[in-house]
Amino acid sequence: MPHPETWLKVLPQGLYCEPGGFFVDPTRALERAIITHAHSDHARPGHHAVLASAETLALMRTRMGAEAFGAEQSLAWGERLRIGEVEVWLQPAGHVLGSAQVAMQWRGSRVVVSGDYKRQPDPTTPGFVPIACDVFVTEATFALPVFRHPKAEAEIGRLLASVALFPERTHVVGCYALGKCQRLIALLRQAGWQRPIYLHGALIPLCQTYEQLGVALGDIRPTTVAAKRELVGAIVLAPPMAVADRWARRLAEPVVCAASGWMRVRQRARQGGVELPLVISDHADWDELNATLDDVGAPEVWVTHGREEALIHAAAKRGIRGRALRLVGYGDEDDETPTAPGSA
Ligand SMILES: [Zn+2]
Ligand SMILES: [Zn+2]
Repeated sequence: MPHPETWLKVLPQGLYCEPGGFFVDPTRALERAIITHAHSDHARPGHHAVLASAETLALMRTRMGAEAFGAEQSLAWGERLRIGEVEVWLQPAGHVLGSAQVAMQWRGSRVVVSGDYKRQPDPTTPGFVPIACDVFVTEATFALPVFRHPKAEAEIGRLLASVALFPERTHVVGCYALGKCQRLIALLRQAGWQRPIYLHGALIPLCQTYEQLGVALGDIRPTTVAAKRELVGAIVLAPPMAVADRWARRLAEPVVCAASGWMRVRQRARQGGVELPLVISDHADWDELNATLDDVGAPEVWVTHGREEALIHAAAKRGIRGRALRLVGYGDEDDETPTAPGSA
């Protein structure tokens, strides 16, 4: 059986599957790409041909319009496709709607590229499906023991408790436009919040695509048309940058909140002027990363980006060989971090 190193190459443009002639999540426009999910650091515009889940293709089209890609092909979960000499299939990664792990098999040797993923349940996307493999390629965004994400439902409970405590103020929550925003809305609905949820204009197109793809979000309204009076006691969602700047200041005595795994770091919350940090992440935390290594049972793990040292060390203690790929270009456009007022 060929070792995955001999057929899945780490090139400057990203991971290249040689016997299939395609890249996974390449960082520049190329001939043939398989895309794990529609976040901008993984889904770049301009590939000639893209293979992805139908949801990811739809979200890419919303984000990039006609520039998104030339030709497209979608795969249903678990559906197998032969590309060159390689068998390819997708399984959910649980990260955002449409997010997929890419499984590739060549001459009995199997690699799974997880993309970004999480193991906490998320009402807007199917959960992560572990796939047994010879090499598991993982992210490591929160791969330090200090990162242990609480249950998202408990964080939503803290938000609603604050809304009850300050009924005359507007709670404005900074969140990433793809995934986090829709997950927050769905979690609020699950927690019984049936009132309108107001959105910054930048969040609306992707919410509409989610609804077209079958994720019900309830009564969502643009903040622009909402009278200031309507926003008293309301919950408003906005991109982190808008929360930090002038935009939020015209709301009624805003309580500035942010929903991100980075809110575990107090200093980050303070820098962003965040009064109510909510630790809600779409990435696996330390425990989830380690549990996933056990679940997939791969003798070898390759780490694409993030805090690879701690994860590789933890893997080695269990006899799993680790390799840091240090791929450049991932994680920097995920916009997870709130920006301090006044900075870019
Ligand atoms: Zn992502
Ligand atoms: Zn990413």
